[in-house]
Amino acid sequence: MKAGESAKSLNARTSARRASALRWESLCRQCGVCCYEKRYTGIFSLYTDLSSPCRHLDTKTRHCKVYESRFRVCGDCRKMTIIHALFASYLPADCGYVQRYRGLFKKRRD
Ligand code: SF4
Ligand code: SF4
Repeated sequence: MKAGESAKSLNARTSARRASALRWESLCRQCGVCCYEKRYTGIFSLYTDLSSPCRHLDTKTRHCKVYESRFRVCGDCRKMTIIHALFASYLPADCGYVQRYRGLFKKRRD
């Protein structure tokens, strides 16, 4: 808690942060495509090798088996960011983050 902050405002801040995290996560369509090995085709160009899933991915349900601890247990797991959403070449066009952010970018340009 910051100095001078009441328990009520701390709770409000925590709830707002949780709600924002949930909104961010809700953009994921849970296709699991970003949970496969990424390989380079050139210096900066990555693609997804759909024959090599992350060992923590349940390929039937397409859900992560270690979701809560994924960044701790999997060195290759990448946190989704707006930069990834806008520029990562390995994300599929129908990824919820790609659609949201590249779509917004495109709308502004049109
Ligand atoms: S590619 Fe996008 S929509 Fe699919 S699992 Fe990854 S973050 Fe979610
Ligand atoms: S650890 Fe990361 S990359 Fe592996 S399945 Fe889970 S979310 Fe996907």
